[in-house]
Amino acid sequence: MGVPMKRIDLTAIPETGQHYRFRIDPEDWRPVEEEEGAVAPAGPMEFEAEIQRAGRRMILNGHLQGRIRVRCDRCLKRFERDVDTRFRTFLALPKEMGAEAEIELGDEDLEVEFTPEEEIDALDLVREQLLLEQPMKNLCSESCKGLCSSCGADLNEGACSCSSDQGHPAFRKLEALKIKGEQD
Ligand SMILES: [Zn+2]
Ligand SMILES: [Zn+2]
Repeated sequence: MGVPMKRIDLTAIPETGQHYRFRIDPEDWRPVEEEEGAVAPAGPMEFEAEIQRAGRRMILNGHLQGRIRVRCDRCLKRFERDVDTRFRTFLALPKEMGAEAEIELGDEDLEVEFTPEEEIDALDLVREQLLLEQPMKNLCSESCKGLCSSCGADLNEGACSCSSDQGHPAFRKLEALKIKGEQD
């Protein structure tokens, strides 16, 4: 339906290896889970994959570049930043390629996990890498003041009405009662 295929057919990779280049557009992004919705391409991204093959097994060296949109963990505002990341994924063809091929893992020297597959989706690889690439905290700026814990105002836009001398709203209420009591 107009969406270009971004698939890598592992059965078609020659013994000499293969190089792929994909363009991932923001429209291609279909977040599956909530955490994925917090990260999205902000413009076209370039994804290059160099696949080296040794029999059934393959090593994919990826390079992902572009600009993404993320959410600040302090003020929840969206902001953009550049991504330039290299990664490596291990792949393998199913042992027997037939309609009901039985996928067997754990043969020979498996220090690394090879995922048996006949075809992979470049978008899935990009999605996974973008999530892995996220820092513990995404901050729009190191000095982001975040949101007021009482009223939720964005403190980067200025102090809110619950300024520090007035303290917590619960205490303010108490204070108001006390003043009222004194006046009565
Ligand atoms: Zn922020
Ligand atoms: Zn406030």
